[in-house]
Amino acid sequence: MKKTMRILLSENEMPMKWYNIQADMPNKMLPPLHPGTKQPIEPDDLSPLFPMELIKQEVSQERWIDIPEEVADVYKLFRPSPLHRAYQLEKLLDTPAKIYYKNESVSPSGSHKTNTAIPQAFYNKKEGVKRITTETGAGQWGSALSFATNHFGIDLKVFMVRVSFNQKPYRKIMMNTWNADVVASPSNSTESGRGVLAVDPDSSGSLGIAISEAIEMAAQDDNTKYSLGSVLNHVLMHQTIIGLETIKQFEKTDDYPDIVIASFGGGSNFAGISFPFIHKNISEGKKTRFIAVEPVSCPKLTRGKFMYDFGDNVGLTPLLPMFSLGHNFVPASIHAGGLRYHGAGAIVSQLLKDKIIEANAVEQLECFEAGVLFARCEGIIPAPETCHAIAQVIREAKKAKVEGVEKTILFNFSGHGYFDMASYGQYFNGELSNYSISDDEIMKSISKQEEVVLF
Ligand SMILES: *Cc1c(COP(=O)(O)O)cnc(C)c1O
Repeated sequence: MKKTMRILLSENEMPMKWYNIQADMPNKMLPPLHPGTKQPIEPDDLSPLFPMELIKQEVSQERWIDIPEEVADVYKLFRPSPLHRAYQLEKLLDTPAKIYYKNESVSPSGSHKTNTAIPQAFYNKKEGVKRITTETGAGQWGSALSFATNHFGIDLKVFMVRVSFNQKPYRKIMMNTWNADVVASPSNSTESGRGVLAVDPDSSGSLGIAISEAIEMAAQDDNTKYSLGSVLNHVLMHQTIIGLETIKQFEKTDDYPDIVIASFGGGSNFAGISFPFIHKNISEGKKTRFIAVEPVSCPKLTRGKFMYDFGDNVGLTPLLPMFSLGHNFVPASIHAGGLRYHGAGAIVSQLLKDKIIEANAVEQLECFEAGVLFARCEGIIPAPETCHAIAQVIREAKKAKVEGVEKTILFNFSGHGYFDMASYGQYFNGELSNYSISDDEIMKSISKQEEVVLF
């Protein structure tokens, strides 16, 4: 058979609905709780922060949700994205496994995050919002949202985790190019930021702190809303366009994935590629396995506790039922900034608890080694976050070789690493290390949360 390197869809084959896995979960999630009353929150409690249409999607039990024309038109600047077969990598690993990757690095900002940035900006615009605040870790989310808010004519204020702000000046300039205002977090412009700086003036920041700052600013102004790039149900749903396209692309081959792998920060790129295939497992009896890959230094899925915890550092969000390391957890300054988040989305947490998905943790050095190998075989240089998925793919491909079984492995190529060259440079100079964390440290971080309801 002729080799096909890239399996492509035409524009009019792009799916026009998102998949909402809430309709199919065997066990529903526990409800988010109001931090004061500890009672389930009402949709209206979220209205100071989010437009109504996104709140409706957050709690919707409808299986399929229409993608608005205006959103589809912007998606089509880069979607459908290609599905690649990684022949060179297979050959180098001398594996009987077939390796496919869905290339989300082709979006304008270079990662999957644009898939939710566009609808979020659109629904805000439709409801008359003038300004959005947000946080960004490595800068990918801030870039994606800058592109989208600029497209729809909304102002954007980005709180960028200080360690990334310093490591990645070009991400900031990219956001500025799309008209966003970017500050390093913790900053002096919010009470949350000032509080952290008072205790630790040299704080390298964390996603949790940056989220607190962005929420605080949005809550204080009627014309300003807040936007989150991962974790929440509606964000995960917007990403399902990835997996829905991939299913159509596999229909053009003789293959179907036995294993689906993605890196895991808050769960959005993992959900995006895996939820439509989980639907196939549930509705058609397929037996695909799903593996979420996190850093050893931020191991909420593999070593965290399933509990009610805040999504941010200060405690401004509702209490969410999730696997967490505790909302005050500040992970080591690894280069996969997008994976330095203390918690996990509620849906993904429930699916992990129900053993519908699996999780694994990999070390920083193994990730860079995998990323370099991938770049030398396939050309594209992966983001450090994406390297986590690739490291797991290589493990599975080697296992397939030992076991002598032909498996089809699919992974989400969540983003390129062209703004992460400094971290590759440090890797080549031997300046990067692994970070492990003791059970004691994890227990200490988790037990610090007195206000959290454990169960
Ligand atoms: C943000 C990011 C991630 C992790 O976030 P999720 O919400 O878990 O997907 C992974 N890869 C890239 C390239 C990212 O930008």
